[in-house]
Amino acid sequence: MNAELDLALERRIGKRSAAVIEKHLGITTVEELLNYFPRRYLTRGELTPISDIPLDEDVTLIARVLSSSTRTMRARKGTITDVVISDDDGQAGLRLVGGTDYRGKVPGTLKISFFNGYRAKAELLPGRRALFSGKVTSFKGSLGLTNPDYHVLEEEPFSAGGQDAGKLAAMPIPVYPATAKLPSWKIQKVVAALLETADLASLPDPVPPAVAEREGFLPLHQAYRLIHAPETAADWKQARERLRYQEALVLQSALARRRAQLASEEATARRPRPDGVRAAFDRSLPFTLTDGQAAVGKTLAGELARDFPMNRLLQGEVGSGKTVVALRAMLQVVDAGGQAALLAPTEVLAAQHYDSIRRTLGPLSRDGLLGGLGAGDDATVQVTLLTGSMPTAARRQAMLDAASGTAGIVIGTHALLSDNVSFYDLGLIVVDEQHRFGVEQRDALRAKARKPPHLLVMTATPIPRTVAMTVFGDLETSTLDELPKGRAPITTHLVGLAENPAWAGRIWARAREEIDAGHQVYVVCPKIGTDDDGDFSPGEAEPPGLDAEESQRALASVTAVVEHLQGEPSLSGVPLAPLHGRQDPELKSATMAGFVDNTVKLLVSTTVIEVGVDVHNATLMVILDADRFGISQLHQLRGRVGRGGLPGTCLLVTALEPGHPSRRRLEAVAATTDGFVLSQEDLKLRREGDILGASQSGGRSTLKLLRVLEHEDVIARAREDAQDIVAADPFLSRHPELADAIEKYLNPEKEAFLERG
Ligand code: ADP
Ligand code: MG
Repeated sequence: MNAELDLALERRIGKRSAAVIEKHLGITTVEELLNYFPRRYLTRGELTPISDIPLDEDVTLIARVLSSSTRTMRARKGTITDVVISDDDGQAGLRLVGGTDYRGKVPGTLKISFFNGYRAKAELLPGRRALFSGKVTSFKGSLGLTNPDYHVLEEEPFSAGGQDAGKLAAMPIPVYPATAKLPSWKIQKVVAALLETADLASLPDPVPPAVAEREGFLPLHQAYRLIHAPETAADWKQARERLRYQEALVLQSALARRRAQLASEEATARRPRPDGVRAAFDRSLPFTLTDGQAAVGKTLAGELARDFPMNRLLQGEVGSGKTVVALRAMLQVVDAGGQAALLAPTEVLAAQHYDSIRRTLGPLSRDGLLGGLGAGDDATVQVTLLTGSMPTAARRQAMLDAASGTAGIVIGTHALLSDNVSFYDLGLIVVDEQHRFGVEQRDALRAKARKPPHLLVMTATPIPRTVAMTVFGDLETSTLDELPKGRAPITTHLVGLAENPAWAGRIWARAREEIDAGHQVYVVCPKIGTDDDGDFSPGEAEPPGLDAEESQRALASVTAVVEHLQGEPSLSGVPLAPLHGRQDPELKSATMAGFVDNTVKLLVSTTVIEVGVDVHNATLMVILDADRFGISQLHQLRGRVGRGGLPGTCLLVTALEPGHPSRRRLEAVAATTDGFVLSQEDLKLRREGDILGASQSGGRSTLKLLRVLEHEDVIARAREDAQDIVAADPFLSRHPELADAIEKYLNPEKEAFLERG
């Protein structure tokens, strides 16, 4: 630990400043403030194009005062000073400023009103340039700045003349993430004071000298100086590059160390048996495995046979056939005398896995009641369902079977994690749809085995390579990128009711056509009833970009839609049923069973059917108020149709006006069925914090300079370096600065957050 880094801020910048910084930014140590980096840089000589500034966000900009006038208020005592600022430099000859071409652009103006603004009246004289901060808002068609604050730029670069004018004009002004009460330039002032007083030379450098030399990095203390107080754009760029790499290296080293730790644990080797259930299952498979399934299967078989734990992430497009891959791995473990647990995110999916795995296994699956302890039948496996809502007697029996080892495969939800469930010899944990399962749960399950079990995590939400490297960096990754042959394409249409209200009726006529052709239909709603908050699973974020007005809008609910469809002429006589998370579990399974055996033709549900549900005869999916769902959710949802060689259709229904930002998600989903393209799009539309789950970890994003989408090369280089460092020095005893940085970066609560899926 380094004394300087952990020093209380007041020791370096004084009590008063430290108190202000703590109050507004929550920052208390030298290290935290040094690492509070500018978000971007403005150039002194350039005005900020006003038309490019986002509305309703705290912004900092440079503008020129166009006019100023002061009036007395009539209703109460006091004055108002109205200042109009502009992004026009007002000098015809200097229209091309610092590479920004303003010609042809209408100059933007912003109006600012100061109540009793004596200081503003005196300082904001026409022609002056200043930094302004506030929220840009639009009122009656003209733009204004609310909660305004300003800082006059003393030197006028264009009138200063002399030699330094050019240099000064090019000088970057750091823009810090500011708050309404603490504008960027005040933060800058405090940071400048810290740079003066802090003992920067003593700061420990986590980057090994050899790497720093190879990369031509600035020394650490200089990087800190130049990122906060650059004289040229090249300064901050170089500084950023170094600090960004450093961030990536610390993160990747933490992950490399965890991988090494996991690999050094001891696990029971589960070797394949040529005469086991798996071999019999392979012979009975009604289809041939895709090349990808076969290759991943081989990898898994090899890793399960080793005496240290497998830790693998299996990514695969919706419908790529991950279940059968997992099932074969589970059977190998059962053949070797162990048990396997399959965790699903919802009870509906757990029950479906249970039914379909037993169906797939056919005679190889042994019924719990007939088998039982000592049945001694090596060529079969008992598959057991264990969920929280099962009747007590059945649940008790399932728990008994798990504990005694009678159950070879145990399928369940998080109920499997409850403390009184134990296993006889848990050899493999399969987590389906990882993005719903956090590390706490994974670890709780791991604790259920005498030795660490093998772990297979599956997700159908494609994860870009860099995110996989960052967020799931402690897992090895396999990908299934081909769909089994005979998959029919899914066509997706955006149905905009705002521009075409008549389409509302046609949707149901279309549903009728499918049903008359012998097929089935899903209708998905964002809510259960008329006055609930929806059926979102825990941890699931609302899609981004909802404004207040939109949140108020009445949304399609399962109950209301069922009622409506029962009276809908084009659907008369069609057996339809509701399905949602608040129903009684027995009713849910009965409904699902009815849909599977085609007695229920139209299912009105929430997102409970989002993942994994597999009904081949369903060909049409209607998603109502589709704008309320995120990209990956929509992609998952529509993956429920087009599964049985019948072409699928998905209708994304929205009441939003064309051009509404939330419609972009729908357009993206309608434009492609490539999950990898969509996940990139999703990341672009979401903020970084959402990707890494910062919202769950209590606010501040862990990553400062690193952007997982943009900095793929940095992450990849750092990952390689980290791997080398950890391979040569597993406990980092020769890299104490790096080890300390990892500890700091990943304090226990952050470490959990890192792995949370
Ligand atoms: P996902 O990867 O989305 O979980 P599933 O495992 O549910 O996909 O598989 C989707 C469907 O494809 C299932 O009905 C499954 O039986 C079928 N399937 C899996 N592998 C193959 C294959 N190689 N050939 C044909 N159908 C397959
Ligand atoms: Mg699946």
